[in-house]
Amino acid sequence: MSGDVPTHPAGFRSNQQSLDTRMALTLKARMNLGNVLVLSLLAIMGGFSYKETRVQADKDRWVAHSRAVLDLCEAMRIHFTESGNARRTYVADEDATQIPAFEASSKGTLTVIPLLRQEVVDNPGQEVRLNELEIAVRARLQLFERSVQSHQRNAHDDKEQKAISEEGVNLTFHAVDEIRMFEDVERGLLQQRVAEAEAADGRASRINEFLGASVFLLLIIAAWIVNRELARRNAAEEAVGKEREFLESILNSCRDVVEVADETGRIILRNPAAKRLCHDGESDVTAENFPKHLGFHREDGITPFGAHDLPLTRAVRGESIDELEVYMQCPDLSDGRYFLAAGGPLMDNQGNRRGGVIFLRDITQRKHDNERLSAALLESERITRERSELTKLTDLFQSCHDVGEACEVVKALSGAIFASRPGMLCLTNSSRNLVECCANWGDCSSTKDTFEPSDCWGLRQGKPYMGAAGATLLRCPHIVEIRAGYLCMPLVAQGETYGVLYIEDKPSQPESSTNTFPNQSQQFLSLATAVAERISLAVANLKLREVLRDQSIQDPLTGLFNRRYLEQSLDREVHRATRAKRSISLAMLDIDHFKHFNDTFGHQAGDLLLREVAAVFKARVRAGDLACRFGGEEFALVLAETNTDGARACIEKIREAVKHLALQFRGQSLGSVTISAGIAAFPEQSENAEGLIHMADDALYRAKKEGRDRVVVCHDHEAAPTLEKSL
Ligand code: GH3
Ligand code: MG
Ligand code: MG
Repeated sequence: MSGDVPTHPAGFRSNQQSLDTRMALTLKARMNLGNVLVLSLLAIMGGFSYKETRVQADKDRWVAHSRAVLDLCEAMRIHFTESGNARRTYVADEDATQIPAFEASSKGTLTVIPLLRQEVVDNPGQEVRLNELEIAVRARLQLFERSVQSHQRNAHDDKEQKAISEEGVNLTFHAVDEIRMFEDVERGLLQQRVAEAEAADGRASRINEFLGASVFLLLIIAAWIVNRELARRNAAEEAVGKEREFLESILNSCRDVVEVADETGRIILRNPAAKRLCHDGESDVTAENFPKHLGFHREDGITPFGAHDLPLTRAVRGESIDELEVYMQCPDLSDGRYFLAAGGPLMDNQGNRRGGVIFLRDITQRKHDNERLSAALLESERITRERSELTKLTDLFQSCHDVGEACEVVKALSGAIFASRPGMLCLTNSSRNLVECCANWGDCSSTKDTFEPSDCWGLRQGKPYMGAAGATLLRCPHIVEIRAGYLCMPLVAQGETYGVLYIEDKPSQPESSTNTFPNQSQQFLSLATAVAERISLAVANLKLREVLRDQSIQDPLTGLFNRRYLEQSLDREVHRATRAKRSISLAMLDIDHFKHFNDTFGHQAGDLLLREVAAVFKARVRAGDLACRFGGEEFALVLAETNTDGARACIEKIREAVKHLALQFRGQSLGSVTISAGIAAFPEQSENAEGLIHMADDALYRAKKEGRDRVVVCHDHEAAPTLEKSL
């Protein structure tokens, strides 16, 4: 099996993909919504936080600004104080070293003022106060500078210094007040700004705390949502996995072959049954060439499928396949197999065609069973037909009166019984030196119709003999031309052989030129044996019946028919003559003075005479006539289609023949004997058998009476009184 062929069924994959897609959409939508909400909330809170931070920073800047102003004020105050101290020390102590300090501090004081002006440029009130402060400071510094310069010029001018000091005190107080006022205002601003900064700081802290708490809460919610969705996804995946395992187990346990191809015809799924069927290792198997690997053929097992007619190709095209029988001769299979194909297009959940699927059910065993069943049915039908034919044969045999009719039955039925194979029924003649054809069917020119028993191997062996076509060795000599195999079945019943049943194979069957006849010889031999047994039994029975019948209708001494047979036959002959409107003559004959003959030559000689006279009768009458011993030394001859004239002539000849018999018994001449005869004819004298007998007997009586050794015909004018007498 191809390693590229996916392990999981495409259907599973598509289902799972669909489920995954739905889940992903749900999760994604939720996550996006959550993200938008969270980000919006965070943005709002961040905006508030940013705004408050900016406000706080602004407040802090103003606080720092106020502190810087106050620091500058403090620096100015220090410089201002130091300049006063330096002037006072210089004036009082004459310390010239204080002059630079004085100048530096004065300069430092004035340096601070522009810096302060820069700081309070946005505060008009402070700016006004700074101007006043500058005026006061500059006035005081100018006064002190005048003091220093005055002292440098006249160190001892205390008066001026005193006046300057007094004025300086005022200016100093004024300047200090101005500085204090400026500082107080700025300090007030500082306190206000500190309070505002603290308030802003508190708001920012609360907002940040709220923001942090919100982010934390949102993170918890997000984590909860993600976990819940993951749990759902895991549950869904687990459910899909179980469903997939379940469906896979169905496919794996499915004994039918399942093949799935995509839209391009490439095989994307085979279940284990398909893999077991053919271990094909190629990965690019397609619906078109896949059957080539499996040896796909049509139901007849010979015709290969066209590329476009293949079940899977048709399924990929969107066709439905239902109950299509295919034959497969896969290289991996030792024997071909029959499958029932069913399938159709493979549709996805949106109803789009994604390929084709085909199911193949192995019906090889069922087909073989059906074939065996069909063969058994055919065999059963054959046996039934044969039994029916045999029954029919047996029934007809039972209705046969003689062997000739039995032969006709054999001739009529054998063609059907032996499936139109030609054949011949040959029976042994009475002298048992020849086997003669009694019935044949089909073209039996391959055998003689009369031959000696020794010319047949079957008769010689006393058992069935099968001759092979073309074989000259041990071929039955009665075979003239060996065209096909043949069978000689001896007809044996009750220990006696009655003949042979010859059956020839059909010349049109080519196998018969090489095989012993016939094919399926055991079946046919059984049939031929059954037929031969029935024929043998029928022939034996009919021959036995003929013997018994002969014995019942024949006179054992003379071999002529007896009186009972005469009465039966004469009645039948009268009816036949009535229908044919022809004449019948009846002659009653009696040996003259037979009692005397017996007395003279003995009873045995009398018997001899009876046999010899009977032999004359047999020899003189025609094939259709009847010669009967009526009783004792009295005989009756029925002459068919003969009137009284014809009868008289015939009987006269017989009378003459008997008269000229020269019999001898035990070396002794028996002399000559005569007979007397009376003749009556149908329909002249009587129209029934009984009347005829009476009439003829009456004529015989008259012949005796008139002197014997003569023939008397019962004429019409004599018939009436005789009939009346007899009645
Ligand atoms: P008629 O000329 O008048 O016929 O005289 P008949 O002597 O021939 O006739 P009859 O009826 O007086 O005698 C018949 C004899 O035939 C009597 C009987 O013994 C003899 N017979 C009958 N059946 C047989 C038989 O089977 N064998 C022998 N040998 N004799 C028989
Ligand atoms: Mg007599
Ligand atoms: Mg008699």
